Amino acid sequence: MTNLALFEDDGSENPGKVVRDILLQLFPSQNEKAEGSSDFLRNLDDALLADGELVKAVYNSVINYAARRLIKMAQHKHRKYSGDDSYPGESLDRIRSFLSHNTTIDATFQNKLSILLYTAAKEHRNRSKALKEQIFNRSKELGARCYICGRDLSFDDSAGHLFAQVEHLWPVTMGGSNVESNMKLACRACNNVKASYVDAYDFHFEHFVSQLEEGDASFNKEFNWEFKVASYLKAGCQCAECGKSSDDGELKFLRLNTSDCWHYLNIQPYCHEHYQLFSSIRGGQTE
Ligand SMILES: [Zn+2]
Ligand SMILES: [Zn+2]
Repeated sequence: MTNLALFEDDGSENPGKVVRDILLQLFPSQNEKAEGSSDFLRNLDDALLADGELVKAVYNSVINYAARRLIKMAQHKHRKYSGDDSYPGESLDRIRSFLSHNTTIDATFQNKLSILLYTAAKEHRNRSKALKEQIFNRSKELGARCYICGRDLSFDDSAGHLFAQVEHLWPVTMGGSNVESNMKLACRACNNVKASYVDAYDFHFEHFVSQLEEGDASFNKEFNWEFKVASYLKAGCQCAECGKSSDDGELKFLRLNTSDCWHYLNIQPYCHEHYQLFSSIRGGQTE
């Protein structure tokens, strides 16, 4: 029986996040399959010696995709049936009816899920320009770093990639709230790439696991910002060695295994101190 506890104390700050958690419960990962399984992805994963990371990435990516599709469907129904806010229940009814006709999820879950989807769809319309400006102006005086890459932010619009922008940790299009705890400052480069992604699993993992030749001259071109942001998010925007966050300074990448190339599963970000310490041994990131 599925555990319903999460509905009672979720705080409902990010309905989209709760939707995703429900999907994770409804469709549990097969990652724990019995030994000797002939699962193709598991075998591929073993071949890559990635400790289950590829299977996990594929699974989470599918769950994120499903959550995104459901929230988008709810937004569509909300736009279509709640143009007049005096009838707020109509789009909720439509979502409930969609779920009951198109899924085999039991009735209790259908009700809970439809309310969450409705809330996520409503939240999407609830913009908060004033709060964004407040965060921007406060940080302008104090100074700030990008929460993803850790570079110093500029508050001058002509600064290009380093210009500070208010980023939603849980994207508004994915049911994220316009509350301060869901907003952080990121550089324009990271913000543009992260956009409506939730976490590292949203990036195209096939691209990241494709092998790059060590010492390949095209490496810098391949190691583009999308690849970097996904790699930062994979590590929780922290130094892989000491856990120091991007708040303390820029994070740079190193390979875990120097005999392997710069692919997604073989790199981690490091703080300045650990980058200095390990880069002579492991061969630092080329700029
Ligand atoms: Zn950044
Ligand atoms: Zn460190």
